[in-house]
Amino acid sequence: QRQEKIRNFSIIAHIDHGKSTLADRILEHTSALTQREMQDQMLDAMDLERERGITIKLNAVQLTYTAKDGEEYIFHLIDTPGHVDFTYEVSRSLAACEGALLIVDAAQGVEAQTLANVYLALDNDLEIIPVVNKIDLPSAEPDRVLQEVEDVIGLPKETAIPASAKNNIGIEDILEAVVDQVPPPPGDPQAPLQAMIFDSLYDPYRGVIVYFRVVEGGIRPGDKIRMMATEKDFEVQELGVFTPNPEARDELTVGDVGFLTASIKNVGDSRVGDTITHANRPAPEMLPGYKRMNPMVFCGLYPVDTNNYTGLREALEKLELNDSSLQYEPETSQALGFGFRCGFLGLLHMEIIQERIEREFNIELITTAPSVIYSVHLSEGETIYIDNPASMPEQQKISSVEEPFVRAEIMVPNDFVGPVMELCQKKRGVYSDMQYLDDKRVTIVYEIPLAEIVYDFFDTLKSSTKGYASFDYEMIGYRESSLVKMDILLNGDRIDALSVIVHRDSAYYRGKAIVEKLKELIPRQQFEVPVQASIGQKIIARSTIKAMRKNVLSKCYGGDVSRKRKLLEKQKEGKQRMKSVGNVEVPQEAFMSVLSMD
Ligand code: GDP
Ligand code: MG
Repeated sequence: QRQEKIRNFSIIAHIDHGKSTLADRILEHTSALTQREMQDQMLDAMDLERERGITIKLNAVQLTYTAKDGEEYIFHLIDTPGHVDFTYEVSRSLAACEGALLIVDAAQGVEAQTLANVYLALDNDLEIIPVVNKIDLPSAEPDRVLQEVEDVIGLPKETAIPASAKNNIGIEDILEAVVDQVPPPPGDPQAPLQAMIFDSLYDPYRGVIVYFRVVEGGIRPGDKIRMMATEKDFEVQELGVFTPNPEARDELTVGDVGFLTASIKNVGDSRVGDTITHANRPAPEMLPGYKRMNPMVFCGLYPVDTNNYTGLREALEKLELNDSSLQYEPETSQALGFGFRCGFLGLLHMEIIQERIEREFNIELITTAPSVIYSVHLSEGETIYIDNPASMPEQQKISSVEEPFVRAEIMVPNDFVGPVMELCQKKRGVYSDMQYLDDKRVTIVYEIPLAEIVYDFFDTLKSSTKGYASFDYEMIGYRESSLVKMDILLNGDRIDALSVIVHRDSAYYRGKAIVEKLKELIPRQQFEVPVQASIGQKIIARSTIKAMRKNVLSKCYGGDVSRKRKLLEKQKEGKQRMKSVGNVEVPQEAFMSVLSMD
């Protein structure tokens, strides 16, 4: 029976441990692709991904493998994004599998994302097959790493497969392990259709392409389908699988992973995590785990060159088609001019969007520091929501301010409980729970203001746990906090793009840190520039950027012309990311200085 021959699995790994390379090897061993068709790192679609080494969009390919038992198996290899900002997507794509290959670099050993991914895989009840990769490296220590797999992850070291994705060692063993250890998909082909969407992608010619896995029932071209969360109906046009080239199919049934198109105009109509069913024979309920992703982090995006405002709007419109979690609306800043306030799922999401705008649309950006949404109760009784610190009303008009809190779950090996608790306390966290998973690992739960996480929580967590911590958070609602707006003044002028909302207790200390940082970042000008931090009318910190001593060019007088030209060019380069604010030249980094905590 066909269903018995299906194996659905993902590859999970810490960045650079060799996930893409192994995926390529598996493709070579199983698909009919010729060498020429087989370009390196098939599964990573976008350039940006390739450079950053992270996978943003999920992919699924169908492969056929003839095992040593002589039988032909159908493999669905489902790619997962690698970063904590995409935890939700990782989780969805793992839910489309029964097993996972866990890659650990034989020289590096178990690292942060290795553990984070293991925890996600365990949450989804996956069979985990550990692979110790890069055994060809002279610096490889396979024995130490095998022991680590047993001690830190808790998987018996005998089950781990030594491999080199680069030198083609151990690939057959891995494929056989998938056949033997990953269970075939459960599910009833006669039941009402339930298919889980784990990715969707906008294509200008075909509309949205939906990637899904059939969990119950079956689906055919021409079927009237319903997206259960959005309650929108469509008619299936194309149906197929990626091998990795798209191939049409007459039917996809239990355990199959494929794609469909149905004249869907908007990615928002087929959200990741939603369940597809039939309009005329709907499933009684959705598959578990659907939750809508709302942006949690906001910042202003402004073109360095004001002529690029329209271009920036077009770039955001285009990106939004493929990314239903991206939000934006026009915003004006006295300091920066016309731009957009944009909402993102997290900091990485924010960075990726910025980078894509600069690279794919060639627009240089100034970005303001990220902020969360505050709920502000005015003395007059009204409640307003503020996603830009600059628009916080005056203190006298406010009766109270609430900020979003998250429930942060941090998993670490036992040794790091101390540093993690210390960090959480420092970030205004409220202790909630601690549970030992076994004698090696512990889950620590804190309730923490989202704003504290937006700053440098993740980086600090990583460095204070040698990278071993895994971290996930979910919104739990708004709570009152003692928050105030702090303004930054350059040369006596309030710079709206630098305003920040801080906790009253840390205002003085944050103000001092920011002014010092700005003094460092803003280059000397022709005149002295005072930098001040204020709350209301009260100056709480100040520093001074001294005036430039003399024109650098004067050094070149009489000297050779080419040297002078070089110097000018260099200055121009340095200026690219400068924005004139009033009469002060401010570099991009300065707008992020409010993030400086030390
Ligand atoms: P990913 O970030 O997990 O997808 O990792 P990649 O597959 O992109 O690999 C990261 C780097 O490790 C690349 O430079 C690969 O060529 C290299 N690499 C992957 N597998 C092996 C291996 O088995 N041996 C060696 N020596 N290098 C490898
Ligand atoms: Mg990769």
